[in-house]
Amino acid sequence: MIQRLFILLTLLLGVLSATPQATAVDGTVRDIRIGQHPDKIRFVMDLSQDLDFTVFSLADPYRVVIDLPEVSFAPGAGPDERRPAEIKGFRFGLFRPGTSRLVIDTAKPFSVAAAFMLPAKAGYGPRIVIDLKPTSRAAFLEESQKSVAAFQANKRPRLTAPEPAVPPLLNRPPRLANEKIIVAIDAGHGGVDPGAIGVSGIYEKNIVLNAARILRKELERTGRYEVILTRDSDVFLRLRERIAIARRAGADLFLSLHADSIPNRKLRGASIYTLSETASDKEASLLAENENKSDIIAGMDFGTETPEVTSILIDLAQRETMNHSARFAGMLVREMRGEVKLLKTAHRFAGFAVLKAPDIPSVLIELGFLSNNHDEKLLRSNAHLTRVAASLRRAIDDYFDLVQSAARAN
Ligand SMILES: [Zn+2]
Repeated sequence: MIQRLFILLTLLLGVLSATPQATAVDGTVRDIRIGQHPDKIRFVMDLSQDLDFTVFSLADPYRVVIDLPEVSFAPGAGPDERRPAEIKGFRFGLFRPGTSRLVIDTAKPFSVAAAFMLPAKAGYGPRIVIDLKPTSRAAFLEESQKSVAAFQANKRPRLTAPEPAVPPLLNRPPRLANEKIIVAIDAGHGGVDPGAIGVSGIYEKNIVLNAARILRKELERTGRYEVILTRDSDVFLRLRERIAIARRAGADLFLSLHADSIPNRKLRGASIYTLSETASDKEASLLAENENKSDIIAGMDFGTETPEVTSILIDLAQRETMNHSARFAGMLVREMRGEVKLLKTAHRFAGFAVLKAPDIPSVLIELGFLSNNHDEKLLRSNAHLTRVAASLRRAIDDYFDLVQSAARAN
């Protein structure tokens, strides 16, 4: 549908503006994405190069218009079917010689809350990011008079930070066939922090360290993985340090191992956690204010940037990472089911601090309940932990098969 409109528009305008200069193209829009966030709709255009742009909104019907220099649109560029309900339609093409235009038809009035040109950086190509927030008709009408000038004056904030020392983990070329995939295994707790205490008196910190070592052996046996443990002894580590160790090692995946304890001693089964959307959005804004923000995405230096740009960058990386984490969690549930007793809702979401590396897909695995007699006995058994490790390894294999084949297809 979009393509047909685009072709029609191109043909029509091509006829109307058939001048020798009409073929001049200033760049390519490689992809267009629309994401639903709790408080806004984010619109991202992946570009071949930095481009000036103008954004403004029009009423009756409501629409947001983005004007660019004359660009070509990559075949297939455009949001997929899962666009937010408020976005009724989407059109793009040549508007007149020298100007290409994108029009987003919205069901309700939206205001342009932010608009940025993010130059290529750390493996990400240049992008235009536009945030739309719902607004009232009255506010919309007032703002739409002013918005052209406002965003023309503010367009193209520059990211002037030096190139990062560490390449980003996402959107980078896949590891070569002879290159090992790096998996970080994080045994929870340690040292002064025993974690949960089992019915027999055993400590969570010891059970998860044993499980981490068994999993390391299982993964290294394949020759495909290099494994790093955040701790390989009974030491205390802050959550932030655990993430830092994984990031320094260039980890492709982060697994935090735990074993739970609750007052209900009957409950048993393993579960898998990934970071929840709402928790991570809050975290994204907190991270932006944080003094350690310079190191948070692949060593980028945000020192010269506004908090808003920083938070957008972190948010974009985190969002992509959360999708990867959730996909991996799904594979993990599939591989573990049948091997290990799982909670009824096996994949859960929560704001665990240890899952908040914005650029490493991360899951936290609760291996079972130390408050339950049966689970505790299993968790003390190397045979059981070896079975768990084998199902984790199969899920990790599946996940990286997918990641690598997707990368090859691009
Ligand atoms: Zn724990």
